[in-house]
Amino acid sequence: MVGVAQVEQPVPTSATPDRHRVAIIGGGASGVLAALQLLTGSDDTGLCVTVHEATGVLGRGIAYGTSDARHLLNVRARHMSAFADVPSDLLDWARRAGRDPDPLGFLPRMDYAAYLQDTLAAVADHRLTISAGRVDDVVPVPGGFELHTRDRVSTAATVVLAYGNQKPQALAVAGADLAELPGYLPNPWDLGAIRALPADATVAVVGTGLTAIDTVITLLEDDPGRRAVMVSRHGLLPFGHIEQQSTAWVTQVPDGPLTADGLAALVRAQVEAARLQGVDWRNVVDGLRSSTQAIWRRLDLDERRRLLDRYVRDWEVRRHRMAPEVAERIDGYRRAGRLTVVGGGIADVDVRSARAVLRIPELPEPVLADAVVNCTGPLTDVSRSDDPLLQALQARGLVVPDPLRLGIDSTPAGEVLGRDGDVVPGLLAVGPPRKGTLWESTAIPEIRTQAAEVGGAVLARVVAR
Ligand SMILES: Cc1cc2nc3c(=O)[nH]c(=O)nc-3n(C[C@H](O)[C@H](O)[C@H](O)COP(=O)(O)OP(=O)(O)OC[C@H]3O[C@@H](n4cnc5c(N)ncnc54)[C@H](O)[C@@H]3O)c2cc1C
Repeated sequence: MVGVAQVEQPVPTSATPDRHRVAIIGGGASGVLAALQLLTGSDDTGLCVTVHEATGVLGRGIAYGTSDARHLLNVRARHMSAFADVPSDLLDWARRAGRDPDPLGFLPRMDYAAYLQDTLAAVADHRLTISAGRVDDVVPVPGGFELHTRDRVSTAATVVLAYGNQKPQALAVAGADLAELPGYLPNPWDLGAIRALPADATVAVVGTGLTAIDTVITLLEDDPGRRAVMVSRHGLLPFGHIEQQSTAWVTQVPDGPLTADGLAALVRAQVEAARLQGVDWRNVVDGLRSSTQAIWRRLDLDERRRLLDRYVRDWEVRRHRMAPEVAERIDGYRRAGRLTVVGGGIADVDVRSARAVLRIPELPEPVLADAVVNCTGPLTDVSRSDDPLLQALQARGLVVPDPLRLGIDSTPAGEVLGRDGDVVPGLLAVGPPRKGTLWESTAIPEIRTQAAEVGGAVLARVVAR
């Protein structure tokens, strides 16, 4: 398993970066996929890769670091290969590793971490170094960058940012900071804190997306005495996947000027056309997947903003769907009266007898909660992040938020754009940070393609220099 850190030797800060040395910041899925591409494409280039991972364990990150086997992938196994050009790679691994090799199935997410670790281990050699520890600063120097962690400085000619998803932003209701509430849990991915709640706890889960679904499963599955109230402004749960239909639907978007309203009307019309042919709407949504990035880039900034304001919720609950087994569990909790899902948001909060009292306009009685879990989704506005690396990169002008605050400004090819609007030579990004430029940039099918492109660009750069 690629989990054991090889400790890097400190280097003098005056050392000129070796042009062959690439540093990847973040060892979640994005960092591992980028490392795989660099190692498999670079036999005779002399390239060396250091993956800096805060936890020291690669392949997990937020998504696949869950310790709950009931947290499933929300994408079918046949679409989750690490390599776009070897679609069977995950299924072959599953067969070898004694996991379920069903191409239409949804594997436990922790199995996906094992797959990434095994796949990297199979190509890892002297060219790969794993550096355990958080990178706090990246300093441009002639020929590349210095990377600063708490106790050492290293250099690299090229840096790939793969820092992934951030914790949710702090919650406030009517001016009150929810962090002040008793039982407030700011990190929904801290399953230890959720498991430690009392067996008869009533828990307010703020958010109704896929992370909130995970929280509810960990919370309710183990202790039948627990109850949960999921609350968000819209109160919409993700839809479930259904049996895969054999009919593939190619969702056409004609050339020419495009607006958010026009796009929404077009998708509605396609859904209706599909329905008339007995094809489920899910095929229309999935049929847009390969062109989503191009569509996003055709919209001007105002239209992108309108898309986010008017349509994003309806899109997200259809696009990011639950595995059928997960949807069944959620239905079961609701039927048993253990889970309430409600929209309209929280009107105000109070504290009574060490419990949080949440007034939710759509419920007749206030919710008396033993705990409140922030499941509002990753913070995307880097200008509001308290992450030391993101703060340092912005202070140095090496990264800026994209105009919609969905990530960092970058070119479609993943080159990072600095404060002056120019490409920062040698600084690239993979994964969720590129959402503002590409919109679809957070799931494996897109990330593996980005990793391959960035890998190619890095290798070309090494050879050219
Ligand atoms: C709960 C959840 C479930 C998901 N399920 C799926 C799914 O089923 N299928 C799918 O395709 N997509 C899924 N996704 C989408 C997900 O964004 C991607 O699949 C992928 O996991 C993103 O990986 P990442 O490495 O970019 O980010 P992350 O998983 O956030 O990993 C980033 C890593 O970088 C490290 N790091 C961050 N900053 C530093 C630093 N300064 N120094 C050193 N290390 C650092 C972190 O410790 C972490 O390990 C899910 C997302 C979430 C949040």
